[in-house]
Amino acid sequence: MKEACGVVGVVTPGRDAAWSCYDALYALQHRGQESAGMAAYQDGRITVTKDNGLVSHVFADAALSALGGELVIGHTRYSTSGSANWTAAQPVYRSAGSAGFALAHNGNLTNTAALAAAAGLETSHYLSDSDLVAELLAREIERGATLPAALAEVLARAEGAFSMVVLEAGALHAVRDPHGFRPLCLGRLGPPEAPTGWVAASESPALDVVGATLVREVEPGEMVTITASGVTTTRLLAPAAGPQRLCIFEFVYFARPDAYLLGHQVHSARRRMGERLAHAAPVAADLVMGVPDSGVPAAEGYAQASGIPFGHGLVKNRYIGRTFIAPDPAQRAAGVRRKLNALRETITGRRLVVVDDSIVRGTTTRALVAMLREAGAAEVHLRISSPPFAWPCYYGIDTPTRDELLAARYDLAGMRDFIGCDSLAFISLADLRDAVGLAEGCCDACLTGEYPAPIPVTLDGARGRW
Ligand code: SF4
Repeated sequence: MKEACGVVGVVTPGRDAAWSCYDALYALQHRGQESAGMAAYQDGRITVTKDNGLVSHVFADAALSALGGELVIGHTRYSTSGSANWTAAQPVYRSAGSAGFALAHNGNLTNTAALAAAAGLETSHYLSDSDLVAELLAREIERGATLPAALAEVLARAEGAFSMVVLEAGALHAVRDPHGFRPLCLGRLGPPEAPTGWVAASESPALDVVGATLVREVEPGEMVTITASGVTTTRLLAPAAGPQRLCIFEFVYFARPDAYLLGHQVHSARRRMGERLAHAAPVAADLVMGVPDSGVPAAEGYAQASGIPFGHGLVKNRYIGRTFIAPDPAQRAAGVRRKLNALRETITGRRLVVVDDSIVRGTTTRALVAMLREAGAAEVHLRISSPPFAWPCYYGIDTPTRDELLAARYDLAGMRDFIGCDSLAFISLADLRDAVGLAEGCCDACLTGEYPAPIPVTLDGARGRW
């Protein structure tokens, strides 16, 4: 039940919203490649279309035309469990009361078992935490609650990460957890004085692609409701203590470079990460290169700050998904050579600075370094634009257990030896925060072990808190 997903909701009164939702989902394909789905409301009825596969595979023209609807939500999904089961694809639909609703969720709840137990339910009966939330909402509605009241009741008891879009007859709700772990933004179609529609999405490029203007982030704990009459906002959930906790890896790796998060463009933040690395971890070299895609802006920043020429030393097969979000370990390992190939004439005989965004297990990085050496690299100096990833994520990102994480198993020298590079350096947490532009205001639990919301396991010696 671990997901790194994309969500979108589109409302275009008087016009079909399905194509816009499709385009927005397409812009969020990087957030999940296992399944895609949409739920559309029209003429008193919600229709859900979803299946395993990429957005373009799931939605042929005919499926889109048949969907229709002026209010549509969509989802791209990545998970580790139930991935072969199309019924775990989202949006999740429930019939409740005299109507029904559909829900699409990005994030992971951390108290799923407690929520289920309190309701007398078995967690094993549910396909995901999103499925469980839908069931709890349906029960509240059966007792007479409106959908917004049910959301307030159920989500007040939920812990962990959730950015959700929820569709009912005539209304679309966009909700974010009180910590704001996963991103969710609001955009407007048409001019401010006469909007023609509204879009809520995980990342701002999903707004750009449909011609919407970014208005603002959905605030942590806020519910934005969109109807044909416009937008209203509700403080749905009590604020969490401390600053908001947007996942810092959205800046490092997950979000598209053209996304704006909390007012900061991701590409610029990645360049600054590289600049900080160049100042903190200089090395004599002939060429700086990035590991496509998210390592490239940081490599450009490193090159600019160090004065070492920047070059492209790796060619990426554009038709292969990112290895980190491939669900199977064997696929991940094989994925390096499937995805990347070395440009020998650029690399042979050169001392390389290779900039990548992160090291998780270290196996793909080791395979990459071996590939560069085979291609004739004289030296390989790895620079990583995130601090050592030493703690699992429980807030919606699929990461291995702590004992599989390279940084939890080795010190810096041990990691360098495992990977087989000539030198290895990570950006410091202070420099990363500085590059992102947020001294506070991010979750960095996988780097520090300081989890801002309760987690569902006891970590060995983890600050003694859980
Ligand atoms: S633990 Fe790490 S990956 Fe998970 S939300 Fe926090 S910063 Fe992001």
